[in-house]
Amino acid sequence: MAGFDCDTLVVGGGISGLAAALTLKEKGQDVRLLESRGYLGGAIRSVRDQGYLLEFGPNSLMVRPDDDIDAVFGDPDLMSGILSASTVSKNRFVVKSGKPVPLPLSPWAFLRTPLLSWRGRLDVLREWRVPARTGGPEETLSHFVRRRLGEEVLQYFIDPFVKGVYASHPDLLSVDAAFPLLVRLEKEHGGLFRGGLKTFLKRRKEPSGHTPRGIFSFSGGMSDLVEAIGKKLGEDVGTNVDVVKYTRLDEGFRVALMYDETEYYMTSRRLVLATSALHAAELLEGDPDGPSVELSAIPYAPVTVVYAGYGREQVLHPLDGFGLLCPTAENRKVLGVIFSSSLFPGRAPEGKVLLTVFVGGMTGQKLAQAFDEDLERIVRKELAELLGVTGAPEFFRIHRWEKAIPQYVLGHEETVRTIRKKLPPGLRLAGNYLEGISVARAFGSGVRAAKDLLSEG
Ligand SMILES: Cc1cc2nc3c(=O)[nH]c(=O)nc-3n(C[C@H](O)[C@H](O)[C@H](O)COP(=O)(O)OP(=O)(O)OC[C@H]3O[C@@H](n4cnc5c(N)ncnc54)[C@H](O)[C@@H]3O)c2cc1C
Repeated sequence: MAGFDCDTLVVGGGISGLAAALTLKEKGQDVRLLESRGYLGGAIRSVRDQGYLLEFGPNSLMVRPDDDIDAVFGDPDLMSGILSASTVSKNRFVVKSGKPVPLPLSPWAFLRTPLLSWRGRLDVLREWRVPARTGGPEETLSHFVRRRLGEEVLQYFIDPFVKGVYASHPDLLSVDAAFPLLVRLEKEHGGLFRGGLKTFLKRRKEPSGHTPRGIFSFSGGMSDLVEAIGKKLGEDVGTNVDVVKYTRLDEGFRVALMYDETEYYMTSRRLVLATSALHAAELLEGDPDGPSVELSAIPYAPVTVVYAGYGREQVLHPLDGFGLLCPTAENRKVLGVIFSSSLFPGRAPEGKVLLTVFVGGMTGQKLAQAFDEDLERIVRKELAELLGVTGAPEFFRIHRWEKAIPQYVLGHEETVRTIRKKLPPGLRLAGNYLEGISVARAFGSGVRAAKDLLSEG
């Protein structure tokens, strides 16, 4: 491209940046991607340590029919390593009165579950009759759920789920931004059961093309996905390159970057910032018309991930599920535990089990920052009480994310609209703070950024 070092520069090698770069490259565009860390993947990172396979970020992936991620699943190498989650992973446990209780998977189990009293069950059954809300101020998730399904469902179903997905609390999230499907069911069908039933009765749409169904990962962990995309991008990717400054030119953009303690400059006609909102805010700070202020206002939850490996005989619980989640009402110190070695094969050495424990979140920010020794003591005590774990772990490791998960708080949708409006032609953002926090949604945000630029010409 005459005059520019490259046509499109993508900053950030997480899944959203990789998706943007891949989409552009597959359309024959001249694209470069720069990543400040020494590896690609951002939050997606699988690490082998003493025979255990640790996931620093996502443990698995699930794709919905409207996710735009199919492009990567045609790769035969990647497809050959796909692992579907084990059949027991359909079981999920929620802690009640200090014990893991399975979530009900059938109407019969719903009638018997100790997670709800009879009053709580009646509240759920009455959902049919709750009128749909028309207008009014934006609702928090807790307000929405309390209104439609009652307090107990909020406490023992929704609250733990929110801890597991957003590391947050239902009081803090906007239902429109964080769970748009719930709002749509109410708006379009008058209620969740009505809408859920109609959707169920319609022929169920599955993800298209090559995309695997259900929950899945890869034999080498989630990093296999990143590697497969990295291979396709080849030499168009630079790691250990920190983009430190952005300047808007009359035509195109110029960025300053640090590589090996030396500053370089690079110009491009188009630019995708596929970093966290906070990093994008820093880069755009010098642009008075840009959306730096709105980006910097998006809160992030800290999450500390603790890995504990035990001999199978040290754990009383059968670990016959995906994992367990701890509702706020139970006052536990951990957000939840994934039974990693029950989910996929090859996550722990023979005869051992791997538990992945999540600590912190929006309501446990201090705990996320606890010293390693304190965390070990806390996690061992919780695992002993919740899963009947005895003795010391034979493997123990901690990984900390200071800014793990963006929070879709009240006003988030409006913030995102304002951010998008303030972007000049040729500049697009991608990332998990825009269209959803899952891997598939973050990927989709990168595809959208690329397609928007292509349509701009
Ligand atoms: C602990 C944890 C568990 C999760 N579990 C799941 C799960 O089970 N399932 C699921 O679907 N999702 C899960 N997620 C969410 C999902 O992994 C993320 O939302 C998604 O991977 C984020 O991708 P991203 O590209 O938006 O951001 P990131 O992965 O954060 O990538 C941004 C990249 O930009 C780089 N960067 C930043 N600034 C610069 C700069 N100035 N110059 C160059 N590079 C820069 C960063 O180094 C980073 O690599 C989890 C997340 C976490 C943290």
